[in-house]
Amino acid sequence: MKNKKTVIVVGGGAAGLMTAMQLSPKFKIIIIEKEKSIGRKLLVAGKGGFNLSNNCSLEPFISKYTPSSFLEQSIKLFSSNDLQLFLASLGIETYVGSSGRIFPKEGIKPNDVLKAFKTQLSKNGVQIKVNHKFISYSKNELIVANSNNVKASLFFDYCVFALGGASWSKTGSDGKWTALFQTKNINVIPFQASNCGVNIDWKASVLNHYEGKPLKNISFTVEGKTIKGEGLITSYGMEGNAIYPLIGNVRDLLHASSHAQLFIDLKPNNTHKDLMLKMKGKSFKDYKKTLNLSSLDMALLKAYTSKQDYLNVNTFISCLKKLELPIIGLRPLDEAISTVGGISTTAVNSDFSLKNNPNIFSIGEMLDWDAPTGGYLLQACFSMGYSVANTINKNS
Ligand SMILES: Cc1cc2nc3c(=O)[nH]c(=O)nc-3n(C[C@H](O)[C@H](O)[C@H](O)COP(=O)(O)OP(=O)(O)OC[C@H]3O[C@@H](n4cnc5c(N)ncnc54)[C@H](O)[C@@H]3O)c2cc1C
Repeated sequence: MKNKKTVIVVGGGAAGLMTAMQLSPKFKIIIIEKEKSIGRKLLVAGKGGFNLSNNCSLEPFISKYTPSSFLEQSIKLFSSNDLQLFLASLGIETYVGSSGRIFPKEGIKPNDVLKAFKTQLSKNGVQIKVNHKFISYSKNELIVANSNNVKASLFFDYCVFALGGASWSKTGSDGKWTALFQTKNINVIPFQASNCGVNIDWKASVLNHYEGKPLKNISFTVEGKTIKGEGLITSYGMEGNAIYPLIGNVRDLLHASSHAQLFIDLKPNNTHKDLMLKMKGKSFKDYKKTLNLSSLDMALLKAYTSKQDYLNVNTFISCLKKLELPIIGLRPLDEAISTVGGISTTAVNSDFSLKNNPNIFSIGEMLDWDAPTGGYLLQACFSMGYSVANTINKNS
């Protein structure tokens, strides 16, 4: 029987595991993982609700990515529907939540999803070398070191790097590989936080009473981009699904200056005129009840408007529709849900092979792309993993 070709997958996260899964029936697969177990970030991602993908239709789905054209082919090749079918084939049933987000069915824990991957990989004969760190590579050779720093050479026909971004380093994705790729003349962009919280210069009157409280049914605007959703007041600033998609805009503003402005609309479903009509004939003491404002809304308005604006109905409503909060920074890289930066998209071909070494591929969060939360991050990693497997299958 003809010897199977060897594919080494470096990094046992969403992207790498999908590649290994798709190629394992036909190739000899070795997964190299520096941590003591694979899929650690998957487990972390699953903690607050394992949002695997999104039911959003294809065109708007693709538009969620920056740059969108970069991921178009792979998302089309392996869509959220394909991911659901694939997971079902592993015994992981999914459902679409009210917001279109896709989750494993109730009772299925993140560890069950990871176990299903591991079981199938083991059935397919995939070798998983944990506690093995990749330290260098050349055309067909990978140098790895085990936990005792004993080095070994592994030879490959194809190598797929899926080393992750640079947040939650305790899961393994520490971004420490960048220096090596730079020595190989690969353009690497410095990592920056994405999908992270912001630091806000809170007034004590807000922080002392409202830390941990949510702001529901609001919209946030940064630099003209508006997102409806929720925010959460934290000791340092704001987290939440309405802030994460604006981080790119905040980042740009913070590059240009040391601060940025976050505008809150506390009543995004009412126009200024609607609210003025509600207040007709009412006095200042009726603001809260008539406009259905919470104590937190009132505290924010009081803290971040002038006394004059607060006491005048017209300016009070203007502020309520566009309350300015001072952003003084982004949360640290390691806390971010995802990162931008890493290998430049210009360093890879459209099939994710390295331009200067086409039998080596780079996929997942280690590449410089961005997406909001909502399942788009994991779907992109799974789609890239599938897509690379498809290319390698076709080439062999
Ligand atoms: C708190 C949190 C919540 C999240 N929630 C969601 C969510 O609900 N939905 C969603 O879509 N996304 C979510 N994400 C993002 C998503 O988890 C990641 O985008 C995705 O897991 C990245 O997959 P990856 O395969 O590219 O990298 P990773 O999963 O980070 O895998 C990279 C692997 O490479 C290994 N590695 C690194 N360097 C080396 C080396 N030198 N040698 C060997 N191995 C190495 C690492 O140990 C790691 O196991 C969340 C992320 C976080 C942190």
